[in-house]
Amino acid sequence: MASSESLAALAAELATDHELELLCGDADLQRYSKDFYDYSPILQPRLSPCRADLVVRPITVAGVERLAAACGRHGVPLTLRGSGTGNYGQCVPLEGGVVMLCGSLREVELLDPSTGVVTVQPGCLMRDLDQHLRAHGRQLRLLPSTWRSASIGGFLAGGSGGIGSIRWGFLRDPGHLLGAEVITMESTPRRLQLDATEAEALNHAYGTNGIVTRLQLATAPVVDWHQISIDVETWSAAVALLQRCSRSALELHLATLLERSVLDSLPPWSGPEPNGHRLLLLVAPDGVDTLARLAAASGAVLHDLGPEDLAGGQGIRELSWNHTTLHMRSADAGWTYLQMLLPEPELPAMDHLKQRWGDALLWHLEGVRQQGAARLAALPLVRWTSAEQLDALMTDCREVGAVLFNPHVITVEDGGLGVVDGDQVAAKQRFDPNGLLNPGKLRGWLESISSPGCPGSPHPSQG
Ligand code: FAD
Repeated sequence: MASSESLAALAAELATDHELELLCGDADLQRYSKDFYDYSPILQPRLSPCRADLVVRPITVAGVERLAAACGRHGVPLTLRGSGTGNYGQCVPLEGGVVMLCGSLREVELLDPSTGVVTVQPGCLMRDLDQHLRAHGRQLRLLPSTWRSASIGGFLAGGSGGIGSIRWGFLRDPGHLLGAEVITMESTPRRLQLDATEAEALNHAYGTNGIVTRLQLATAPVVDWHQISIDVETWSAAVALLQRCSRSALELHLATLLERSVLDSLPPWSGPEPNGHRLLLLVAPDGVDTLARLAAASGAVLHDLGPEDLAGGQGIRELSWNHTTLHMRSADAGWTYLQMLLPEPELPAMDHLKQRWGDALLWHLEGVRQQGAARLAALPLVRWTSAEQLDALMTDCREVGAVLFNPHVITVEDGGLGVVDGDQVAAKQRFDPNGLLNPGKLRGWLESISSPGCPGSPHPSQG
């Protein structure tokens, strides 16, 4: 926590800078200190007291440099914020200080016509970026279901995958992030150009180890995705059909499977009257007939919902990934969720968990590509009762072989595979040696400064 004297001196200094917009009203401080952590009843009480002391919106990259310099000199924490749609408090300022809004840095700087590589500022909304790409025959490879409101910088630093993961895997897979410009958090900040190897350490680091001011990303050729909904009577047949689709030669952008009772909580525009468990697919137009053939072979009922209307906001995309959780919670806020990669074979594991947990666990699956292979991820809805019950459920999931990505924790590592990424910690040492960027979110860094003697552990006082 910064002292009130440091904060006052910082605010006075920033107030004279015409490229920094300062917001210090109560409503702004409150609004910009929150994200969607309330999906977790564990995070909700822990994060709701956290509050920024000042919110700053730089309108130029030079403004970002001066803000970083001032925070560095006054020893004030700086937490970066895109659109604030994260689910784990990624942009919640645990130690107060300044929250920086990236929304004015939103330019699409370059689209290389020969490679499709796009260079973009972090505050660009993914919707705007995708629209820009589409006008040039390209599209984003990976999008969160919040793609209309989320920023590209926030997705890169706080997201993981989503729509497109069935083809393109996850954001941290090599080949998505191809370079970045970063501003260091020092009293004399440096503006550095990182290649793909160096930029990787900032990928999914929650803005703890550098301020990203420019990104280079790979894109894909544009496809006018077609929406298909398929209802299947039994869960085992539905899972088998999802797997057949994922492992076929179909070009898919999304394959979501929802257990029957989840459908009752979806919005009225979500599709026809349910007639079983529901598979939702985005497929290239040349794949519609094949899907009809696969569905018929499974005795399933297919509804062709037509081409996507990207302007509308009421498509299959808005029923997938964590939007399913959103709709369930809109109907009944007593639901929370988990995230996991299911073990293979999936059905026995799912059956076992279902037998133990009954209707307190409702299945929501997503087809994904994991290290090149078609796999099933699950974001099951979980009826909240207590932290102990949630722990017991997570233990059961691990016991059947699921790999959990716990959405009820605040550090980069604990929400991932649980292991410290030495490159992320080393990047923090290089780019934020005094630990002022989004403090409290990189466990590897916290451990390194509490046990500085550990071999290989960087320490703030080391050069
Ligand atoms: P924020 O929440 O504002 O920030 C995320 C992180 O990025 C923070 O740690 C922040 O400090 C850091 N950051 C922001 N800007 C910078 C910068 N310039 N430099 C360095 N760090 C920076 N996520 C998925 O991955 N897939 C999904 O399908 C998905 N679906 C969702 C559905 C719902 C209903 C909700 C509520 C959330 C979902 N999310 C999903 C989580 C979230 O919406 C996405 O990850 C989104 O991309 C975050 O973008 P944002 O602009 O809101 O980032």
